[in-house]
Amino acid sequence: AFIVAGSVGAISEVLSDLQRAAGATERLVELLESPSEITEISAPKPLRSDNVGLSFVDVSFSYPTRPDEQVLHNVSFKTEPGEMLALVGPSGAGKSTIFDLIERFYDPTAGHVEVNGTDITQLKLQDLRQTVGFVPQDPVLFAGTLRDNLVYANPHATDAEIAQALQLAYAEQFVADLASGLDTKVGEGGVGLSGGQRQRLAIARALLSKPAVLLLDEATSALDAESENHIRLSIDGLKGRMTILVIAHRLSTVRQADRILVLESGRVVGSGSHDQLLNSSALYARFAQMQFAA
Ligand code: ATP
Repeated sequence: AFIVAGSVGAISEVLSDLQRAAGATERLVELLESPSEITEISAPKPLRSDNVGLSFVDVSFSYPTRPDEQVLHNVSFKTEPGEMLALVGPSGAGKSTIFDLIERFYDPTAGHVEVNGTDITQLKLQDLRQTVGFVPQDPVLFAGTLRDNLVYANPHATDAEIAQALQLAYAEQFVADLASGLDTKVGEGGVGLSGGQRQRLAIARALLSKPAVLLLDEATSALDAESENHIRLSIDGLKGRMTILVIAHRLSTVRQADRILVLESGRVVGSGSHDQLLNSSALYARFAQMQFAA
């Protein structure tokens, strides 16, 4: 086959996008359907390794396919290094869009996003995506071994690194309990794993890239009690080691967060701890009552 030189880079870029998106089929479809909207800068800045967190500076955004519908309106927030921030708000408020912009699936229409003090459009896409770990709501495993699924973003991970990531994700025990351990065939035709087990593996997979920022889209569906408990313990263990943003659907997760950002119709309408927000925000109080009712 004949490939023009210029398109090789584009193809490998799309492939790395696809690899990144392999955990989330809906995002995969989104990526396949949308032409690549972002461009790489020719002389990117190095990514600072000191973790100074993440900022949104006056970010407004419309999806390219729907330019007349503004999805985010002047969103600004800043995390402290190692802070855990929970995003809450009704469906359609813009929570997933915030994650899309952090991963640079799209660029803001106005304003900018900074990771470790640098506008992310000034970074190499590969550096950015290495630094931002993403754990989708309902991770999909591809056909292959567990090990293949864990290391595709970081093929040089050592067994010791894999073991440590599994431990931090509270996935160590169930992997050890599988007859073939890391060599177990999963995905299509392989052993079936529960949603909670897949999400814990997705946490381990993200950790192997040693992310400075971890984006976690909490499952809306009920997980088995053990998985739910283990994901909670895992988040506790990760807190402080990296900046964590979680789209939270459970009161227990919101309670773990250092701070909660309340979104409504693409705007930040509140920020604070659960108790502070219960007192200061009627919207949050109502939302919490409905969303988190036991
Ligand atoms: P949910 O909790 O239901 O996932 P959310 O708070 O994450 O909601 P978003 O998914 O960010 O909300 O959606 C915000 C708005 O952007 C919605 O109006 C949605 O219809 C729109 N939207 C999301 N993805 C796209 C897309 N790929 N193209 C066009 N519009 C989109």
